[in-house]
Amino acid sequence: MSAFTPQVRLRLDGQALAANWCSLARLSGNAATGAAVKANAYGLGAREVVARLSNAGCRDFFVAHWGEAEAIADIVTPGQIAVLNGVRHEDVRAVIALGAVPVLSTPHQIATWKAASGGRCHLMLDTGINRLGIGPEQMDPELFQGLEIDILASHLASADENNPQNASQLSHFIAMSAGIKANRKSLANSAGIMLGNGFHFELTRPGLALYGGMARDDMADHIAQVVYPEALILQTRLLKAGDTVGYNATFTCHDTMRVATAAIGYADGYARGLSGLGRFTHDGKLLPVIGRVSMDLVTLDISTAPEIVEGQWIDVQYELANISELSGRSQYELLTGLGTRSSRYWT
Ligand SMILES: *Cc1c(COP(=O)(O)O)cnc(C)c1O
Repeated sequence: MSAFTPQVRLRLDGQALAANWCSLARLSGNAATGAAVKANAYGLGAREVVARLSNAGCRDFFVAHWGEAEAIADIVTPGQIAVLNGVRHEDVRAVIALGAVPVLSTPHQIATWKAASGGRCHLMLDTGINRLGIGPEQMDPELFQGLEIDILASHLASADENNPQNASQLSHFIAMSAGIKANRKSLANSAGIMLGNGFHFELTRPGLALYGGMARDDMADHIAQVVYPEALILQTRLLKAGDTVGYNATFTCHDTMRVATAAIGYADGYARGLSGLGRFTHDGKLLPVIGRVSMDLVTLDISTAPEIVEGQWIDVQYELANISELSGRSQYELLTGLGTRSSRYWT
């Protein structure tokens, strides 16, 4: 903790996070519901998120890197942590010592795991995303012999669209998994949960929707916003007609206008694409971003809110689906791009 007052902070709604997990668990029907908490829980803070979801009843956590597993291994049972990016020979001893479970994706990783007598593992099948997993051309019953597979998984490429690839991946998953012994099967991410029971199997793995992302339009009724950025006002001034604002003078005042400079910029994840498009709010009043978003600052039109003064906190509109559309960035980027310079507090 720094001794200094932060200038940009994220208010994180812990009740909304837990409620989103419960909604996704309900939508997952008879399947258990896990949580993707990779990339520091999409930027929110993995330890805080994992503690809250664990309280809500979540028992399966997915990270990408071993360092991410290590960072949460003291707050959940290590065996409940699955590591998506697999295992490398040089890490195998540390992996076994930690007790988190690798998701094996290649014949090489499977051989490494068998040679180390690693025990329980997960297995990823590639059913068409062509990213990670054993592909149809690599299927060989001998490959899986002797593996103690808990979760047999695959990952959907286009679940956020009504795309024939969904049905195609589902049928490949069913066919490829037919001969493989495993405790549980898992296919659906957030968007995949909305594709119906056929996609749920024994375990779903939402990420984005937990954190307030609308993985599909039809999720809007089930998912609440979790992340609320706030920024400190550093200065206000009165401009006259003809004055310009920000880098490259992209905004020109047509009239006398009160403006404020707030301490948030693209280094904090506030996308430069929101230049002239983003909105802040104060007491229900909308404050448009004028001119370019800079690295550490934005300028706001506060004509409608003359009460705003230096030193006040104001709210950043950050409804993910909407901001994604305005900025041209995906909802995933809007979350994972949230800077480390912001302080985070949970309500
Ligand atoms: C990131 C990830 C998820 C979660 O996906 P969302 O779209 O964020 O719900 C699930 N499974 C795997 C394999 C992932 O990499």
